[in-house]
Amino acid sequence: MPDPMLDRSIGALLGLAVGDALGAPFEGLDRDSYPRVLDFAAGGMHGIEPGAWTDDTAMAICLAESLLAERRIEEGDLLERFLRWYRAGENSAGGKAIGVSPKTRATLEAFERSRRIDAAAEVENAGNGAIMRLAPVAIYFRGNAAEAGRSAARQARVTHTAAAALAAAELLAALLVVALRTGDPEAVSRAAARAEHPDLAVRLAHRGKTREWISSAPRAVDTLEAALWCLDRADNFEAVVVEAVNLGGDSDTIGAVAGQLAGAIFGASAIPERWLTTLLSRDRLAGLARRLHAQGMSE
Ligand code: MG
Ligand code: MG
Repeated sequence: MPDPMLDRSIGALLGLAVGDALGAPFEGLDRDSYPRVLDFAAGGMHGIEPGAWTDDTAMAICLAESLLAERRIEEGDLLERFLRWYRAGENSAGGKAIGVSPKTRATLEAFERSRRIDAAAEVENAGNGAIMRLAPVAIYFRGNAAEAGRSAARQARVTHTAAAALAAAELLAALLVVALRTGDPEAVSRAAARAEHPDLAVRLAHRGKTREWISSAPRAVDTLEAALWCLDRADNFEAVVVEAVNLGGDSDTIGAVAGQLAGAIFGASAIPERWLTTLLSRDRLAGLARRLHAQGMSE
């Protein structure tokens, strides 16, 4: 029997990658325009192999390695790692950065020119890139919810400076910490229902919504809502992530956010083995999660 706390930490990072890989072949397609996704597939706009993942997971690996090296969010180190991924494919699935949004490109190229850690300030970005990569921060700072929130915002700010993106990152960090500590879907659901942030124009409103009112646009707040909506509708890892990647639109990132939460609640041992055996870099991702768990702040 694995240590349940460690199992949930590993689940958060593997869950992120599984959701990314499941959704990636369908990224950008309209909802219900493709057959219901139940397994890894090949193709899509990036032409990936089954079990390969995109920017969501690659940037999460950069974030994990930066945290392990620096023991905190060090913006310059994190941006250098993102830039090496973008330019040289470091930490990518297939040797090349894929899925990079135009705004993130603009920010990384501005950083490349200036080496200024506030390179993102000129680009108003409220996108879900701020939250898609977050799991390493929650694993590392799970023992200190306030620090997890501050560090979530710090890692967001290097590419996403819009208030709503920072707020979504802080809220997701808080929910992941509850999930990692308790493994209780009800506790996460209650925390999400109570979640309020002064920089969110509205509270997270996934609760009363039907599927057609859930947005699959690539905005951080929409993606967080979509992931929470999926979580409320399913009681196991597989069902949550299947619901997420079948919402269409930014399917890989909705999958990555839902996968982080579901993995943090149900643990790596709850992720179907047929997915784990095909997932690219499974051992590397699990190893990073173990190190984050061991080196980070426990309760
Ligand atoms: Mg992606
Ligand atoms: Mg995406």
